[in-house]
Amino acid sequence: MQRDTLVFDIIREELIRQRRGIELIASENFTSLQVMQATGGVMANKYAEGYPGRRYYGGCEIVDKTETLAIDRLKEIFGLEYANVQPHSGAQANAALMLAILQPGDAILGLDLSMGGHLTHGSAVNFSGKIYSPHFYGVVKETGLIDYEMLESQARAHKPKLIFCGASAYSRDIDYARIRKVSDEVGAFVLADIAHPAGLIAKGLLSSPFNHCHFVTSTTHKTLRGPRGGVIMMAKDGENTLGLKDMKGNLRLWSNVIDMAVFPGTQGGPLEHVIAAKAVAFGEILTDEFTVYAKQVQSNAQVMAAAFVAKGYEIISGGTDNHLMLIDLRNKNISGKKAEQVLGHADITANKNMVPYDDKSAFVTSGIRFGVAAITTRGMTEGHIPFIVEAIDTALMNADNETVLANTKKEVNKFMEQFVLYPELG
Ligand SMILES: *Cc1c(COP(=O)(O)O)cnc(C)c1O
Repeated sequence: MQRDTLVFDIIREELIRQRRGIELIASENFTSLQVMQATGGVMANKYAEGYPGRRYYGGCEIVDKTETLAIDRLKEIFGLEYANVQPHSGAQANAALMLAILQPGDAILGLDLSMGGHLTHGSAVNFSGKIYSPHFYGVVKETGLIDYEMLESQARAHKPKLIFCGASAYSRDIDYARIRKVSDEVGAFVLADIAHPAGLIAKGLLSSPFNHCHFVTSTTHKTLRGPRGGVIMMAKDGENTLGLKDMKGNLRLWSNVIDMAVFPGTQGGPLEHVIAAKAVAFGEILTDEFTVYAKQVQSNAQVMAAAFVAKGYEIISGGTDNHLMLIDLRNKNISGKKAEQVLGHADITANKNMVPYDDKSAFVTSGIRFGVAAITTRGMTEGHIPFIVEAIDTALMNADNETVLANTKKEVNKFMEQFVLYPELG
């Protein structure tokens, strides 16, 4: 067959875009070459419905090996009793977990999307808000910190079956013990969705949810730096049975219920090529090199937040504990939408984001979110941050000046030449 140069030329264009720009989207990262190679490998051809050792297809002995490796390595990273590595994405992981433990109509409680939460935690436009009865907590207006008192009063008022913690645009650590306490009081399960900070939690740089939360889900492509995908985890399976019985009256472990909720509950065949790539990424996370990386991410974020504060930018909560920060641009008289566009002209990629108590719509927004996981993978350390903050500030303060933006773009492209991305790809 003739090579599809049309598509491969476009893929090449994307490589060049990634090389030239400063990537500050907090949910993005650059995988290693070997993670990409596994994702693009022959395991893409294999059907393997079921789990290692108990599949519905022949010829699964080899993919069983990589899936088992992925599970074992993930267990080692976080000290788990149970892991499911099949969810196709973070949203799929949450869908399966909810299917496993909830009935349609059950009350759930999560951080409001406009306060930094995620779509799958009960948003009206998502299955989670349509199938279940969502209630929300927010952040304290003055501090930008999770309003634990509101979480507690909402839990007592609505008696949710599931309380979500974890967020997409929240820069501070989370008090999992406090959330578990009220969940025990009202008889709720706690799900920590660590899609964003998982890589930092893996290295002990943030509080661990595993001792306090019944269930933990994550993506694998944000700070974990693996292929696009999701996982479901439990530190302890046994304590979570809570008397659940199967049709024969035997106690059922949550691990069985969750496995069933992933397949056949919400998915068909697992993406064994992606699972192989997850195994590779988890192997990388177990190395000391990744410890150095995770610490650098945290340090870069703190230096960046301080540099923005020094330039008069308002960071929600005043700073960051993890890899990201959310900036309220209202005192700079530019909307999130416009800021995203302007930075795009300078080859700086970020996303507009609602800030807590935003007066603008989700389409416009007053905020912008920056994360440093991707630039840290490119090799940036504290000393490189001032250039980036300066470039961002110059672009935003000259939002309608084409000449300044074109100049900034040139400087950004030049700056990025020192951090070669995938040199093996030519
Ligand atoms: C990114 C994210 C997800 C969803 O991940 P996808 O892979 O995009 O489906 C879920 N929860 C949180 C908190 C996230 O930030």
